[in-house]
Amino acid sequence: MNIDELFDFTSFTIDREPHIVLDPEVCKSCDIRGCTNCCPARCYSWSEDDQKMTFVYDGCLECGTCYVVCHRNAFTRWRYPRGGFGVAYRMT
Ligand code: SF4
Repeated sequence: MNIDELFDFTSFTIDREPHIVLDPEVCKSCDIRGCTNCCPARCYSWSEDDQKMTFVYDGCLECGTCYVVCHRNAFTRWRYPRGGFGVAYRMT
């Protein structure tokens, strides 16, 4: 099963309060930005023109990959969504 197929088996209850928050200045000075390649949900995108990281948390799969790969610890918040919010996997 690939990641696109996985999305067919997921649903999201979006919290208006983001569970992951970035410090944009840290992302701007990062020389790797591994999150843009490693996030399976493609939540991160870097604009070279704007020198800006865009992060969309509402499709987050809560895998924790970005927390591990960010060597600059750019997060001002990284936690799982509050109870009742976030991704729900439905495999049957
Ligand atoms: Fe992407 Fe996983 Fe980080 Fe969510 S926890 S933003 S899915 S890498």
